[in-house]
Amino acid sequence: MPRTALAPDLSPGEATAPRVQGWCPGALRPMMSGDGLVMRLRPRLARFTREQILGICDAAMRHAAGLIDLTSRANLQVRGVAQADWPALIDIFGGLGLLDEDTGLESRRNLLVAPDWVAGDDTERIATELLARLDELPDLPAKVGFAIDAGAAPRLLDDSADFRIERGAHGGLILRADGRVAGVPLAAGAEVDALIALVRWFADGGGKVSGRMARHPAPLPAWAMGDVAPGPSAGALRSGVHALGVVCALPFGQVRAEDLAQAVRSSGALALRATPWRRVLLEGAAPDAAPRLAPGWPDMDVADLAGWRVEACAGAPFCSQASVETRPLAYRLLELAQQGRLGAQRGAAPAGADTRTVHVSGCAKGCAHPAAAAVCLTGRAGAFDLAFDARPGEPPQTADLGMDAVLARLGVN
Ligand code: SF4
Repeated sequence: MPRTALAPDLSPGEATAPRVQGWCPGALRPMMSGDGLVMRLRPRLARFTREQILGICDAAMRHAAGLIDLTSRANLQVRGVAQADWPALIDIFGGLGLLDEDTGLESRRNLLVAPDWVAGDDTERIATELLARLDELPDLPAKVGFAIDAGAAPRLLDDSADFRIERGAHGGLILRADGRVAGVPLAAGAEVDALIALVRWFADGGGKVSGRMARHPAPLPAWAMGDVAPGPSAGALRSGVHALGVVCALPFGQVRAEDLAQAVRSSGALALRATPWRRVLLEGAAPDAAPRLAPGWPDMDVADLAGWRVEACAGAPFCSQASVETRPLAYRLLELAQQGRLGAQRGAAPAGADTRTVHVSGCAKGCAHPAAAAVCLTGRAGAFDLAFDARPGEPPQTADLGMDAVLARLGVN
């Protein structure tokens, strides 16, 4: 049974100011953000059943801000949770079978699964076995994660994981440690044994200090030093009809809970498969249902943005900290990025700055993208501050701009 304590375990990241945390939030151990607690729900096999996803949507509307995030590790986040509402949500999510027994298992279940698996294939078989054997893993640094990517071709090559079981160029499966270009072939049926053995080697050899496999300086044990490269990438799932249902884009990785519930109901979806690419696969959705996860906004796939990334937080009216709506401006910027019209207004990027991001933040807390962005728009007193190569709250180049003035200032209206 999941733990049902009376207060969330917020330590050590309970401050509301944005900063890089050394751990990932869960449901049992939520993280405080600018708009309240963030509760992260990790699906098993990348899949939430219809009952689970509708239950999450209903809970987000009744006990949180009514918004759901899709993370880059294919988890769902319910955000804007008041501390007083956390126990009720724990009960609801526990009843839906979404929780782990304790925070240790919750953080260890950091498992990215290729979302287009089918019953009986290698991805389903191996991921199911690993889930059943999580208690055999040693204590690990909080951000260490796994990828099971054993379809006909790997899809998760560009997505973060410390240890991977994936399809190799030779057609069989390999075990590959992050930071290595090649992996070791695996015997059928012994894949999880090998993964656990490599993880134990990492932990026994100072993995706690290294933090992540890619930073671990020790040479791999001889048995794990293979020379088989992963197979050619099948790439991310694209929006549209899929053999398993319909793939839908979530601009900004965020959806209103009521829109998601409506899309699930109207499409007849049997489940939602979460991907790390800001898209979800509505499993079993009718091909002609054309579910929309952002009704009223242009239907665009965020993969086609000419190298740009547009980030936006919930903004007004969803977050009480916001004095501006973020979405109208963010959607307009998405359109401009798609048209290839963003770029000339970039400032001089300091070392380490992200030079391809436009960030529309409802306030200076910058929940959606705490790092520097090439174009940073921060809401303040009902208008936007504009800065280049900056974080929200840093001194603006121009202040007090409405949406049209922002676009004019960027030369793209
Ligand atoms: S307005 Fe945006 S950045 Fe500010 S606290 Fe709310 S979600 Fe975070």
